[in-house]
Amino acid sequence: MPGPVYRFAPSPTGRLHRGHAFSALTSWRACRAVAGAFRLRIEDIDRIRCRPEFEAGVIEDLSWLGLDWDGPVLRQSDREVAYTAALEQLAGAGLLYRCFRTRREVAEAMTRAPHGDEPVFFGLRLPEAEAAERAAAGEAFAWRLDVREAARRAGPLGFLETGFGPGGQTGWQAVLPESAGDVVLARKDIGVAYHLAVVVDDADQGVTTVVRGCDLFAATGIQRLLQVLLGLPEPVYRHHRLLVGPDGKRYAKRDLAETLQALRERGVTPTQLISELDLD
Ligand code: GLU
Repeated sequence: MPGPVYRFAPSPTGRLHRGHAFSALTSWRACRAVAGAFRLRIEDIDRIRCRPEFEAGVIEDLSWLGLDWDGPVLRQSDREVAYTAALEQLAGAGLLYRCFRTRREVAEAMTRAPHGDEPVFFGLRLPEAEAAERAAAGEAFAWRLDVREAARRAGPLGFLETGFGPGGQTGWQAVLPESAGDVVLARKDIGVAYHLAVVVDDADQGVTTVVRGCDLFAATGIQRLLQVLLGLPEPVYRHHRLLVGPDGKRYAKRDLAETLQALRERGVTPTQLISELDLD
């Protein structure tokens, strides 16, 4: 039996802030407490927003915090072959279709999810000959998952939550994949979508426990579906609370949260930061 494997998977779209430190330390400490292996993955599929200097910043900041990891750093931008194979597997099983709708058309066609959640999109599957012809003529399209067919084939689904979701959910979580709608799994500008890259990478890195913020709790449902469809192993999940600042709002790059680099430059030590974070 291979031992436990944990990971931290930041997107290098900016410098890390306290929220990232909290997440990385939560995963790393839980990992080392059970003598697990810790993997680092750079989620840089979005080539427009990700930058090499931010990746260097991730390494610098995590090292400053005292974190270490096992094995090479996995970079999503190096993984096209693995993602294409997964897409082909799903397409070969008849679970993907080309969607030619524009953003506006998609917005107009959104419906409420089965249990009344966020509005979601279910597309129209065109006859294959027509879809292939339009694609060959250069019309833009996205590959979407036919989520209702996928859910039918996968059967009842769930995952084990060992932390908690945004509403305090813990223990076995039933998943209703239809509530995500027909998610986009590949597009021209970003070859592969986040959900697919994550499940392929978690499997290839042998991740047994996914520790991440509870903002990603809803994403776990669709990721579980993809794992089942692709025949990938099932990790255990531990979603953690989101760190909030003095104003009660969660830390986010877009709010220009103070970066770890800035903290360091004004003399804060890793020990001070770790005690301030009040890890669970
Ligand atoms: N790359 C994602 C982020 O930085 C995390 C994805 C995950 O942990 O599954 O928000």
